[in-house]
Amino acid sequence: MVQQYGQPIFILPEGAFRTTGRDAQRNNILAAKQVADTVRTTLGPKGMDKMLVNDLGDIVITNDGATIVEELNVEHPAAKMMVEVAKTQDEEVGDGTTTAVVLAGELLANSERLLDQKIHPSVIARGYRMAAEKSNEILNQMGKNINLDDEKILQEIAITAITGKGAEISKEKLAGLSVKAVKQVAEKRDNKIVVDLDDIQVEKKAGGSTADSELIQGIIVDKERVHPGMPRKVNDAKIALLDTALELTKTETDAEIQITDPNQLQAFMAQEEKMLKEMVDTITKSGTNVVFCQKGIDDMAQHYLSKAGIFTVRRVKKSDMEKLAKATGATLVTNLKDLSSKDLGYAAEVEEEKISGDEMTFVRGCKNPKAVSLLVRGGTEHVVDEVERAVQDALGCVAAAIEVGKVVAGGGAPEIELAKRLREYAETVGGREQLAINAFAESVEVIPRTLAESAGMDIIDTLVELRAKHEKGNPDIGVLVLEGKIDDMWKKGVIEPLKIKTQAIKSASEAAEMILRIDDVIASKKGGGGRMPQMPGGEGMGDMD
Ligand code: ADP
Ligand code: MG
Repeated sequence: MVQQYGQPIFILPEGAFRTTGRDAQRNNILAAKQVADTVRTTLGPKGMDKMLVNDLGDIVITNDGATIVEELNVEHPAAKMMVEVAKTQDEEVGDGTTTAVVLAGELLANSERLLDQKIHPSVIARGYRMAAEKSNEILNQMGKNINLDDEKILQEIAITAITGKGAEISKEKLAGLSVKAVKQVAEKRDNKIVVDLDDIQVEKKAGGSTADSELIQGIIVDKERVHPGMPRKVNDAKIALLDTALELTKTETDAEIQITDPNQLQAFMAQEEKMLKEMVDTITKSGTNVVFCQKGIDDMAQHYLSKAGIFTVRRVKKSDMEKLAKATGATLVTNLKDLSSKDLGYAAEVEEEKISGDEMTFVRGCKNPKAVSLLVRGGTEHVVDEVERAVQDALGCVAAAIEVGKVVAGGGAPEIELAKRLREYAETVGGREQLAINAFAESVEVIPRTLAESAGMDIIDTLVELRAKHEKGNPDIGVLVLEGKIDDMWKKGVIEPLKIKTQAIKSASEAAEMILRIDDVIASKKGGGGRMPQMPGGEGMGDMD
């Protein structure tokens, strides 16, 4: 409301809320910190799990940062920015989501102290920006080079990603499968190694144990053939991918038909049958012996397909159709009349197999030899879901390590080293930015601090000890969480891809800077999303902790 000539002027609609200045900042920072606090306890191999229950009563039990913040369903705009941090990390690397969110929260927590000292937020943001850029440089210097043949290191990377993720017993096996899968799809392009994780299909099936998980050369479709009369196995498969129903669509039969005598009805049905038979004939003529159909198939068509000995699966997921197209070289056909031999894909065999009492279709020996599937098993739905997330983390880490070609030790070692070198850098900068860079250095140490806490170690003693060791020139000393002591993480095989660290710093600092620069929050009333952001603890945030 602006007062002018004694008349109040309203520039915002009635009911709009607005907070400005320090209030807006405090509010945003608190909300972001609360998201970080929610995931903080899940960090590391001894991290705890969260049980998330949605309004339908569905339960997710997880340790995965990205999954947790997504399920939180936060409303506060600053909290939403933290969710974005996790999402970006997940998309760019596939692991390190908790690290990124916790780091962003800590950067904001430490900025509060500076704000209280009346340091202008834009100065803090600038200092953070400088520190983030320097961190990238330092981390790249710290990274050790590896290549595709460093099997042992790749295996250790996968194990580090999986440790503490509910797949404990079979972590070696799952790590091995992940490394093998990534190596198989890795390609050299312009002297660079590229891994397209879309080439690796992860299919999960509850039942059995995680140790029964396996790598399949080809694609798995979680569907059975539509008719028991069809062959269970087809060799030399010529595969048609149909994105059209093998039914007579409504528009074809919807016309009003007046039938006056039984013969007419018979003729009408015969006509329908004939049309379906023609559809199947088109398929047979193209030389197809396996059909994956994205839509439905009429009973009569199923009968004819079965008679023709064609292995048919219906209502296949779109994503599976795309994978099948890529793996077998088939083209997706949307108009059946267009189907010709040129559209067919190839696989050495297509077979239906029973896995834990459910039929699944395995497509092996595909035209594209790079297509692989990881069949993840686990006792129950909840277990198998969490194992799948662990495997996705491992795949992401191994891929990131191979693509970038650089790795670092884990267990908080790189963070301690980074903090040390950032403090050295801060001294060369001076001014108020120096304070911000130091705050950044301290924030990075939240990772070893949290790991020490999760291991039940004394936080202050551990940090002092770690810093001393790093001062003496041991950059790989970190928190060996599982044994509750500090040690050389590289020697202990706790290794992570460099990209986890560089990406986490990048997205966390960007989010922190962005939140710091906001000094005015204006929420219009329309719709639920426009509700005034609540102070944490209020209704804006879920009551997750
Ligand atoms: P994020 O979502 O960030 O990947 P995690 O729960 O996977 O979170 O924890 C990752 C952190 O745990 C990293 O700092 C990593 O180095 C550390 N870590 C993983 N395994 C070990 C281990 N065996 N000992 C010590 N630290 C470990
Ligand atoms: Mg992880």
